[in-house]
Amino acid sequence: MKGARRLVVERREECGCMGFLPVEKTAACRFLGSVIPCFRSLHASPISAFLRSSMKSYQKELWFNVPTRRAFINITREVEQCLAESGIEEGLLLCNAMHITASVFINDDESGLHHDYEQWLERLAPHEPVNQYRHNGYEDNADAHLKRQIMGREVVVAVTGGKLHFGTWEQIFYGEFDGRRKKRVLVKIIGE
Ligand code: ZN
Repeated sequence: MKGARRLVVERREECGCMGFLPVEKTAACRFLGSVIPCFRSLHASPISAFLRSSMKSYQKELWFNVPTRRAFINITREVEQCLAESGIEEGLLLCNAMHITASVFINDDESGLHHDYEQWLERLAPHEPVNQYRHNGYEDNADAHLKRQIMGREVVVAVTGGKLHFGTWEQIFYGEFDGRRKKRVLVKIIGE
């Protein structure tokens, strides 16, 4: 019992939430301590200062229904539209595919390169024969899962002066590897 009691006290001291809760509210203190690991230190941290500033948050889901099994689509204009709607000038933008057979990636908008991607990915994970994959019991899209893994789930782009802070020739693409159905991409932007 003594050991358990000491543990509670240490936990309360560790979580630091006694700073705003009366000492006797042990249960609430422990609960908050588990939700907010260290309230006092968080409150004083640069993260907290950022959160208490004029931070804005924006999100939107972009929908796609690609008529072919595979395609690369430049979605830079749509993402820029999201940024304009958010009104955020300085921050970070996350853009991720919400499906495990589609990608979001950044590269050059050059048709030869997209052809090369298609050939390269087909060599790495050919669609057929579909029975070469254990995943293809009821499905035929194992190759799409593998292609998505290689091309990535998401991108993060810095927002500077209300614009996407790209490197030279950088554009954002939606990579579809198992299309012919509706799918989503999430755009989340935080900043001020
Ligand atoms: Zn599958």
